[in-house]
Amino acid sequence: MIGMYDVEKHFGSLHVLKNIKLEVPAGQVLVVLGPSGSGKSTLCRTINRLEPVDSGKITIDGVVLPDEGKALAQLRADVGMVFQSFNLFAHKSILHNVMLGPVKVRKMKKGDAEKLAVSLLERVGIASQKDKLPAQLSGGQQQRVAIARALAMQPKVMLFDEPTSALDPEMVNEVLDVMTSLAKEGMTMVCVTHEMGFARKAADRVIFMAEGEIVEDSTPESFFTNPQSSRAKDFLSKIL
Ligand code: ADP
Ligand code: MG
Repeated sequence: MIGMYDVEKHFGSLHVLKNIKLEVPAGQVLVVLGPSGSGKSTLCRTINRLEPVDSGKITIDGVVLPDEGKALAQLRADVGMVFQSFNLFAHKSILHNVMLGPVKVRKMKKGDAEKLAVSLLERVGIASQKDKLPAQLSGGQQQRVAIARALAMQPKVMLFDEPTSALDPEMVNEVLDVMTSLAKEGMTMVCVTHEMGFARKAADRVIFMAEGEIVEDSTPESFFTNPQSSRAKDFLSKIL
């Protein structure tokens, strides 16, 4: 579903992605771990070309991501992304936030988009809030809306970049629960997270990045109990 082949990326003189090779099959839940600055966000952002790469190839469902233009917009719509900051439209209702993508990008009829939006808001447990503005919701609720909004595009892949890092601790689980149920439903997911409980429970696979490289690629079980590299051991000793 996602392929990255010999991907290289620099920011000026900083070599931020080094020879990235990664294939994520349909339905796999991949958790990306690594210290701050190791390139996790950049990796995510290259998957839908929010960041261009210097060289190498990225494919979504077997199709090479084009550099720009209409074809890129089309493919990008197949990749949902949820960030640390929820980025909801502040002056639109929760319902409209979720309907907007399907209407504008997928050219869905408004009535159909509304039905879809309501069903997704039900799925993330927040349909009763649909007429409120984002600021009237808690952070955890807003992040669940952001997930519903991404799902409304009916993506083939969902990328999560530290979706719970900005939340108060008591709201983390309500977001992780939504992610866990998506994982169980077979969504292909790439999740950058510091939530080790989620990584252990929901991930099929863990990659560990350090200084722009994928240093380890294993199951959560073997990563957490038997990390191979000194950098992963050091990382785990600091967080566990
Ligand atoms: P992570 O998500 O693992 O913390 P990032 O992918 O955000 O790491 O960043 C990797 C490195 O690239 C860091 O050193 C960061 O400062 C740098 N970086 C990220 N985005 C940019 C940018 N737009 N311009 C310049 N440097 C950047
Ligand atoms: Mg990051």
